[in-house]
Amino acid sequence: MTRPGPFLHPFGRPAAGPEAFVKIVRGEGSLVWDDLGNQYIDALASLWYCQIGHGNPEVKAAIVAQLDAIETFHTFDRYTNEPAERLTARLADLAPMPDARVFLTTGGSESVETAIKLARLAHFVAGQPERTVVISRQPSYHGVAYGGTSATGLPLNQAGFGPLLPDIVQVPAHDLDAVDAVLDERPGEIAAVIAEPVIGAGGVYPPAPGELAGLRERCDRAGAFLILDEVICGFCRLGEWWGAQHYGVVPDLVTFAKGVTSGYLPLGGVLVGRAVRDRLEADPTLVLRHGYTYSGHPVACAAGVANLGEMERLGLEGRAGKIAARLGEGMRSLVDGERIVEVRGDGGMWAAALGPELSALDVREGLLEHGVIARPIGETAVAFCPPLVIEDGQIDQIVEALAAATGQG
Ligand code: PLP
Repeated sequence: MTRPGPFLHPFGRPAAGPEAFVKIVRGEGSLVWDDLGNQYIDALASLWYCQIGHGNPEVKAAIVAQLDAIETFHTFDRYTNEPAERLTARLADLAPMPDARVFLTTGGSESVETAIKLARLAHFVAGQPERTVVISRQPSYHGVAYGGTSATGLPLNQAGFGPLLPDIVQVPAHDLDAVDAVLDERPGEIAAVIAEPVIGAGGVYPPAPGELAGLRERCDRAGAFLILDEVICGFCRLGEWWGAQHYGVVPDLVTFAKGVTSGYLPLGGVLVGRAVRDRLEADPTLVLRHGYTYSGHPVACAAGVANLGEMERLGLEGRAGKIAARLGEGMRSLVDGERIVEVRGDGGMWAAALGPELSALDVREGLLEHGVIARPIGETAVAFCPPLVIEDGQIDQIVEALAAATGQG
């Protein structure tokens, strides 16, 4: 084993030496290349985010143009900038709830923290400081800051980081009775329920029929806010702009990141619906003491505006349904009850659940050898979430590579 290099990798083994890493140097559309000249299909849109594919010239040009104007100036208190104004106006138009406002962050974890804080604050200023409990589901993933780590329903991601945030109560996904039990136990204390429309990094689990509507109905009954964590599901990943629209629910808060810029620059945020904003706006002297140095960073926002423009120009709304038909069906054809036991997903998010004889890490390696980058999630599943611009032939190559990597090729 060689000595580890200076870069301490996220979600990597600290002891891993430099030979453990693939150095990606170039990308175009749904393809990327490493420094040895190997070509790969990017079957996870990098990390579930590259909707428009790599190397888009319009987004690059928008970034450079904003750098030429001014690289950045903060947006705390009295300052603003045109890209942030344009991006938030566009996002408010696209939002799955009426009259939304948009808080900007630099990624998904900050967005989850913001949503939890805004939910609690909105109750606090409305005279209900006892509403602090957040209900989340297992096995969800809500990022790595302390609020999100606490809400995440993946014990391995929480181990060793305690003590976690109090007043987060977890229930199994798809179990509305368990939600009811918490509401009964802690009446008047619930601030919010947080849920991913399709659980992503926790294993790719679409909701049960009526599950999200059931959460909405329970939030209404309990006086709690519904937070949809759309960090993966937003930006046409499930077909419509938001998972909320795909599953026909109207949330109070929506966290987003990733696809808002297709990852060209780090950006995230929270859509803030009427119920929350009314409480925050009620007292004209209230100051929102929350925000990040780079909230509304003009270069990132310019990338966001250009990315949304490209998504429209390329007609990516609705594209996930076509990916479902080709990738989802192709993967399902490989279910043999032994090597692949189940295929789960919706739209442009899919996972192959492996039989006991296969490990997700081995299948990931096999896919790499066949020129496909996918992501092992847990020990028993491999996730696929390609750029929305992926071509049919490339989807077929992913399916062929999965067949080969699971010994069916
Ligand atoms: N929430 C969800 C649903 C996510 O999938 C992720 C990241 O994958 C996050 C939050 C955290 O986002 P970030 O890694 O940008 O902090």
